[in-house]
Formats: sequence, C-alpha cells, structure tokens
Amino acid sequence: MALPTYKDIVDLLKKGATIEAQEKIMELREAALEIQNENLILKQQIASLTAAQNLQDRLTYKKPFYEAKDNQNDKFCQRCYDVDRKAVRLQQVEPKYWRCIQCRNDFTEDGYDPSDPHDTDYTGRSPVTGY
Ligand SMILES: [Zn+2]
Repeated sequence: MALPTYKDIVDLLKKGATIEAQEKIMELREAALEIQNENLILKQQIASLTAAQNLQDRLTYKKPFYEAKDNQNDKFCQRCYDVDRKAVRLQQVEPKYWRCIQCRNDFTEDGYDPSDPHDTDYTGRSPVTGY
C-alpha cells in the first residue's frame, strides 16, 4: 500500500474533503507507528550483533579452546562459544587440564600427562573444583 503524500492530503482539504483527509492522516500515523516498531527491533538486532562481534574480536581459537586476545590466561569453552555463542570461562583442574562448568566438557592441552597424580585425591576428583 502506497502511503498518502502531503500533496494528497492538501488536495483533499482544498476540495473540502476533510473526512478523507483525516483518513489519510490516520494512515500516515499507523505507518509511522509501524516504522517506529520496526526501527526499535532493528536497533535491538544491531546491539545484539555488535555485542557478538565485540566478543568475537576479543577471542581467538587456540586448540582446544578459545583464549582472550589480551590475556592468554583467560580461556573459554569451545563448545559453549561455537554452539551457544557464550563465552564461558574455563576452570583449571590440573596443569594443562581445564573444565567448563557450564557444559562439563574437559579440555587438555598438548603435553598433558593423565598419569601424573598431582592435584587429584583418591576419588579422582580435583580438590580445586570438586569434580
Ligand atoms: Zn562449555
């Protein structure tokens, strides 16, 4: 539906067709409301995309997890980021052994030695995390 123009409304008023002119003004008001709603939705989408882009710019994938570019001690779950787009910080269980407390995935870095008994008690759980 084409929107009425200013000229359409002026022409109707000049002819004395005030009812028709009022209807055209109402059409314009409805269209303005629709545009305002659409604009609000688009602004929300832009904010969401900007936040996602900022997060993506902050992280870099270094197998087997993501690291913050400005702090390599900040490690994030690969599964949670790739699937849910959430940056979930990993908890260190042992040297070179990390766990995501959100999805419970474990990550081991190159050089991790599972036979090294440090940091685990007889249950096999880490005294640090309790998992
Ligand atoms: Zn995770």
